[in-house]
Amino acid sequence: MGTLLEPEERVLATLNADGSRRWITPRLAKGALWKRRRIVGYALIALFVSLPFVRIGGKPALLLNVIDREFVFGGTTFYPTDTLLLGLLLMTIFVSIFFLTALFGRVWCGWACPQTVYLELVFRPIDRLLGTGGYTRSPLSRLPASVRKALRTLVFVVLSFALANVFLAYFVGTERLGEWVLGSPLSHPMGFGIVMLVTAGMLFDFGFFREQLCTVACPYGRMQSVMLDTGSLIVGYDARRGEPRGRKKKARTSDVSLKVLPGQPEPVAEQELGDCVACTMCVQVCPTGIDIRDGLQLECIHCTQCIDACNDVMLKVGRPTGLIRYSSQSGLEGKPTKRLRARVIIYPGILLVLLTALFTVSMSKGGYSAELLRAAGLPYNVLPSGEVANQARVRITNRSPEARTYTLSAETVQLRSEPLIVGPGETLSEKFLILADRSLFATGSRVEVTLMLEDDLGEQRTLRHSLLGPAGAPQGTP
Ligand code: SF4
Ligand code: SF4
Repeated sequence: MGTLLEPEERVLATLNADGSRRWITPRLAKGALWKRRRIVGYALIALFVSLPFVRIGGKPALLLNVIDREFVFGGTTFYPTDTLLLGLLLMTIFVSIFFLTALFGRVWCGWACPQTVYLELVFRPIDRLLGTGGYTRSPLSRLPASVRKALRTLVFVVLSFALANVFLAYFVGTERLGEWVLGSPLSHPMGFGIVMLVTAGMLFDFGFFREQLCTVACPYGRMQSVMLDTGSLIVGYDARRGEPRGRKKKARTSDVSLKVLPGQPEPVAEQELGDCVACTMCVQVCPTGIDIRDGLQLECIHCTQCIDACNDVMLKVGRPTGLIRYSSQSGLEGKPTKRLRARVIIYPGILLVLLTALFTVSMSKGGYSAELLRAAGLPYNVLPSGEVANQARVRITNRSPEARTYTLSAETVQLRSEPLIVGPGETLSEKFLILADRSLFATGSRVEVTLMLEDDLGEQRTLRHSLLGPAGAPQGTP
């Protein structure tokens, strides 16, 4: 019965044959690349934590305020009405990701993704220190296991709470987050609930889910086969140099006592063996549990730990380093790597067009945006005075950091509107009346008029609007 569902080989590096989770406890290879990754990682942690607090022109450097529908990038505010700008910005981000991946492979995953950085530089080192999370050796091993586990839980909860707050600061802003954190949970039950929910999510991810986020949940890894080509930078094993793998002493064919077990490969002559000594150090350090010698896999986050581990082994056995290295698919196959490939030319071209459009559109936006709309209800009204009244609605989005006063004016028609005060970063929609002389409709029921909108700094907008009215000359007109 049980054998029916057993796979012939391991399906996923983090799953056992029976479908249970294979908990990964990677060893640490402290090579040259790890030292560089640590410097980059700590700098990034400082950046991730400080970015929501950094102000550019009074605005956050980065804010994705979904609640108030306000998005700030580099101190510039984008509103939901900026459909074109937001669309251009998103396309620019996506094409940049495609371009960087085509050039440098998954360098983001291994070096800069917050998941990797926090896991490898904050949470996993705590497990190694305490001898928890699957690690058995620890400088604190004299402490009882229950104490170390309790310490782990306490430290993980505190760190997850801190990270949850940093994470939320990107979405709700530091001011609102401060109110949530410092105020009583009773006065901010919703905010308190969100902070607790995100804290629980962080705890689950860094305490338990870990590499599963990269191998199962993250869509970026799954798209890499589309985004990479044979010239992209990857972490790869040089099979031409490494194979056939084996330990030289054990593989001596001159050793008459050597027995070949059924199902095992024939021993290879020492001089035919490649440089891989089959020590499995590259597998033991892999945070996603894969064997890089099986080729490029979607689980590989290009963290370079296997490079450091293998280089260390190569130095010990007196062979050249770089058996596992940064290269390209072509390079590993012994072919020249093409630097100028179609996607390396096309992506920057598209990026240039997008950036030019983004710059032009954002420059033309000015301190505010405004639009005129027809108000709901009767299309028009003929007043006892004979004038034709149209009800319109003006919607103004103030992009400046101060409140502004806006005034509407027109030459060919009269307006019944008051000056409008709009707060910084706010959008106001207000109705007003347009009174037109009946004679304007002598030739048709629709008349185009031009209105001027001006703020208290003198910045003007020309707004066009179609007035509706009774077609034909008024009675009594010669
Ligand atoms: S670390 Fe290097 S030598 Fe050891 S198994 Fe991996 S590839 Fe082979
Ligand atoms: S195969 Fe190497 S580079 Fe890829 S995730 Fe494992 S250790 Fe990191």
